[in-house]
Amino acid sequence: MDLRGVKCSFKWILVSISLILVSCNNDSTTNSSSATVNSVKAAPAAPIFNSDSAFAFVKRQTDFGPRIPNSVSQSKCAIWLAANMKQFADTVIVQSFQTRGFDGKTLNGKNIISSFNPTKGNRVLLCSHWDSRPWADQDSIDKDKPIDGANDGASGVGVLIEVARQLSIAKPDVGVDIIFFDIEDYGQPEDSKFPEMEDSYCLGSQYWAKNLHTPNYFARYGILLDMVGAAHATYTQEGTSNRYAPAVVDMVWKTANDIGYSDYFVFDKTKPIIDDHYYVNLLAQIKMVDVIQYDLSSRSNFWKHWHTHGDTIDKIDKNSLKACGQTLLQVVFNELVD
Ligand SMILES: [Zn+2]
Repeated sequence: MDLRGVKCSFKWILVSISLILVSCNNDSTTNSSSATVNSVKAAPAAPIFNSDSAFAFVKRQTDFGPRIPNSVSQSKCAIWLAANMKQFADTVIVQSFQTRGFDGKTLNGKNIISSFNPTKGNRVLLCSHWDSRPWADQDSIDKDKPIDGANDGASGVGVLIEVARQLSIAKPDVGVDIIFFDIEDYGQPEDSKFPEMEDSYCLGSQYWAKNLHTPNYFARYGILLDMVGAAHATYTQEGTSNRYAPAVVDMVWKTANDIGYSDYFVFDKTKPIIDDHYYVNLLAQIKMVDVIQYDLSSRSNFWKHWHTHGDTIDKIDKNSLKACGQTLLQVVFNELVD
């Protein structure tokens, strides 16, 4: 995601937003005339998210090395991601594309799109980016070398692969699409010598939003994961999500709190950022929120190892993966309640 975008985004003019209704009502006490003393809200049963499995999926990605555009690691990881998702999903589409970076280079990308219940009209969209940053521009050493991106990239994808594995075992009632966006993190470094390029981050999601994988594709709402795997992470209610999809923010954070993840999903409202969800909202007009770590103590307010060589697999914490993955499964299975 784009730190400079954070600054730019303060200039945004607020527009009125129509609230969408999301079917997140899991209050089973309201429709039962024979309710007993049990006043605890019963959430529909969701599969149990396996954080060991999710961690293994994160590590498998980092084992390929940095997944940067036009690299062998990128090609190998894309093949593995698609093959892996074909085990779990009903359909998998690899959307290959070319785009241009701020440095003028032609970049080859692959968005990997997996669907459950592809014919259902009621759909939920879950996303993360799978590329890693080609530079460590926030580091003090080896700034020109790529990073592992264990948290910034692989963590969200690892969670979503495990979600997919669970959905292959216990089929959801709703349609679910899982997209791994490529080339999110080729954004222009702050000290770049090239002319400033607008919208240099999130090239894969921009391409997808302008070239939907099926005509007239629509999801009722979406959830993006980015940097979700660090120990004791807190995910605040970030401003772009609040601007475009406030009802979805409320629903996701409430769901997380209802199932015990109040330490992670905190209700603080924080400044807007540019991430893949911005373009999904803006260009595809799907109301998508971003679950991303906020750290008040770091300079960027992102995770302290953001865009440094410290973004490695040893920083990934299974409890954080669990908090996100179990919340997503609960959101999906709450869709059983109409
Ligand atoms: Zn990044």
